[in-house]
Amino acid sequence: MCRTKLISPLNSVFTLLITISLCTGVFAVDRTSEAGEAEITDPTEECEPYSYQPVVEAKSQFPTIWQPATIVEGDTEALELWNGISPSIPTNISVKGSITGDFSNTTSSYPHTDPDCWWSYFQCVTPKLAGLPMDIASVPEPMTMGYGFDDGPNCSHNAFYDYLEEQNQKATMFFIGSNVLDWPLEAQRALTDGHEICAHTWSHHYMTGFVSQDAFAELYYCVKAIKLVTGVTPTCWRPPFGDVDDRIRAIAHALNLQTIIWKYDSFDWEVSAGNTTPEQVDTNYDNFIELAQNGSLATGGSILLTHELNNYTMSEAVKYYPKLKEAFQHIVPVGVALNKTQPYVESNYSLPSFEQYISGRTQLSGSKDNSSSSGNSTNHDNGVSFFSPMSSLVLSVLSTLGIVIMLV
Ligand SMILES: [Zn+2]
Repeated sequence: MCRTKLISPLNSVFTLLITISLCTGVFAVDRTSEAGEAEITDPTEECEPYSYQPVVEAKSQFPTIWQPATIVEGDTEALELWNGISPSIPTNISVKGSITGDFSNTTSSYPHTDPDCWWSYFQCVTPKLAGLPMDIASVPEPMTMGYGFDDGPNCSHNAFYDYLEEQNQKATMFFIGSNVLDWPLEAQRALTDGHEICAHTWSHHYMTGFVSQDAFAELYYCVKAIKLVTGVTPTCWRPPFGDVDDRIRAIAHALNLQTIIWKYDSFDWEVSAGNTTPEQVDTNYDNFIELAQNGSLATGGSILLTHELNNYTMSEAVKYYPKLKEAFQHIVPVGVALNKTQPYVESNYSLPSFEQYISGRTQLSGSKDNSSSSGNSTNHDNGVSFFSPMSSLVLSVLSTLGIVIMLV
């Protein structure tokens, strides 16, 4: 409720204008800073587009927002990086179907032995190509939920992030590069709030449908967008729709991105498309909770696919949080469940270990000063080393972007 008492007829119009502006927030809202943007409580207002100067200045360095990525014309850094890693990408694994997910021509001829470890076919998470790590589909800690949300940053996420903050709950946010450039202050809020940020491609298409160079561009520009806006370089990604095979894994691996998938799907993302019902999503959440209650997760935890996609998916997450909290011993970001204490290339940020998190130290520690986490950081103090095929030119491009390859 917002009231005012007009003091005199002379200043009544002025006072009325000020009052309206304060009541509606029209003039009071600061849309130039993360803190100001986080204060907005009206979802419609949150989703009014705004201009953020660093993005305006860098936009020509990126593909068109929401369009499938290709290496931007004249982007020699990206091209040189691609040329450096492309020899390690298999050429005997073919492109599958289309980037919009039509695999009808592929699945009919694809061998049942699943030679490419194609997740969309048999939910394969153990690569068959030598040298690739397993996908993360579960978490090792018993009775633990690896908590994360895809498709953000959503412009209207303040109420959801406020709720997580009230619960002192951190999560892993899988951000789409195009969304990051559309909503940069919302992306920054994830870092400020102590969530872990992973990449979720540039334009959110089916990755096995891209030729290798374009698949590289989908990952490269997503990471670059996150770095531009938040100052950190993610070391993890999740394939949209889970669509990944060993060719795409090899590209992600060369970019120092750990592939994170899921074991169970809430299908919350299908409600807005009319492909499932809210009742079915409730059942999916309930079934996941049942796993914790019936002992199925007594020796290792799990990951449920959920989304920061729209008001419904976020409201559903809020609705189910208390029930999840009751059923699981621990709900932690995926990186915390993996004891991955350095989530980004930049070494001035650290996630708590699993033990620290469950003891109450949930906050990501680190500086928010972008200048100290600039792309010139090469992490020499952390024993970082590089692939032998990498040329010095490629290394310089990597370090410019803040991307380093860690041998594990
Ligand atoms: Zn997604």
